[in-house]
Amino acid sequence: ASMYRIIRFTNIFLVLLIFPKSDYLNEFLFKETIPPDSDIIKQDYFNYKSSKKYNLNIVYFIPSDVSNLTDSRRRLSEIFLHGQKFYLNNMESYGFGKRTFNLLVDKKNKKVKIIYIKGKFPIKHYPYKGGGNKIKEEVEEYFSMNPHEKNSEHTIVIVPVKDVDNADVPFYGGGRWCYALDYVNMDIKYFGENSKLGTDASKSIGGIFHELGHGLNLPHNSQKKSEYNNPKKGTALMGYGNYTYGMTPTFLTKASCAILNNNQIFGDTNGKEFYSNTSLQIKNISSSFSNESIIISEKFLSNIDVNYIGFYNDPAVNNSDYDAITWASPIVDNNSFNIKMPINELYLKGNYPYILRLRFFHINGEITTYSYAYKFNNNIPILEFTTDKNYHDRSNWKVIFHSSQENEDGLATN
Ligand code: ZN
Repeated sequence: ASMYRIIRFTNIFLVLLIFPKSDYLNEFLFKETIPPDSDIIKQDYFNYKSSKKYNLNIVYFIPSDVSNLTDSRRRLSEIFLHGQKFYLNNMESYGFGKRTFNLLVDKKNKKVKIIYIKGKFPIKHYPYKGGGNKIKEEVEEYFSMNPHEKNSEHTIVIVPVKDVDNADVPFYGGGRWCYALDYVNMDIKYFGENSKLGTDASKSIGGIFHELGHGLNLPHNSQKKSEYNNPKKGTALMGYGNYTYGMTPTFLTKASCAILNNNQIFGDTNGKEFYSNTSLQIKNISSSFSNESIIISEKFLSNIDVNYIGFYNDPAVNNSDYDAITWASPIVDNNSFNIKMPINELYLKGNYPYILRLRFFHINGEITTYSYAYKFNNNIPILEFTTDKNYHDRSNWKVIFHSSQENEDGLATN
């Protein structure tokens, strides 16, 4: 406590010298009477800068019965700078340049800008189920009152919890918003440590960057077999990499990076228009199996240019898409592509059914998805893709059950 007092007195002195305005004085005198934790939240000495127009909004959302956790600014700054580098290394490895999610940073002090917002309600009001939208509402209210604080369409919200083992707060992402948690020992210094602190660090910090991926438009996907065995790759972050980050090799797939390549907050995107409506039509699609590879080629028409396509081979054995093995290919001649996917990269063959999701990555950051079913028959894929599907009339359909759902685009009704 005495340390804080010394630091604070020094700052009062400086502020008096530099800003002899009464509102500053009042604010600082007021701060003398509130406890150090809250003080750290309000008193922001740092000088955050970014040369980029759009930057990630990092919100630390504090329920009314929880306090800001010790050292949150330092711990989270180190965490986000770690993740920023991870995303950059992956982008660069595929030739997308030295780009990553932009942050407002005080480089000298190694601090990233965190917006501290006090919630209106106790933590019970913001459970995993449904809590995300309630927090979003309050954060949006804050942004509408403080428009200069909103730096892009992409926001990550961190909620402090007292007990990481019994946390019931939002932990998911989608629709450019995502949610994760903070606990007092969440720190990159525990990476690789063979202890509960070590596994918790991987899970929670890996979790932050997995959910951030969703908040940056990324769907789930899995590494190929050869990638898993490559010590420079390992486990895909948007698969189960939220358990391996900081512990064993973890990476972003090329498809993930091709999506980020069109993201609003990746590098210099000044002057570009993002997330406007897109429409895309498939003109023709052909598929074959030769040389132990699935080969697909296609022509399409789109109102907004597409620069890459992702091919997500999802075994239709469960409801999850964490296991969708993924390729990515650039567009040729503006409106067509072809891809060769060696089936020795897939884990499940035999007689397994699959869904192939074709995702078209538009240059404005939007994604159009088309899904095709196929199946393996004695280890051979049977591909019968066609452009004219007869869809059932869905107007009377109702959701009668869902095992899980996520915000906005991830709702079961979609
Ligand atoms: Zn996920």
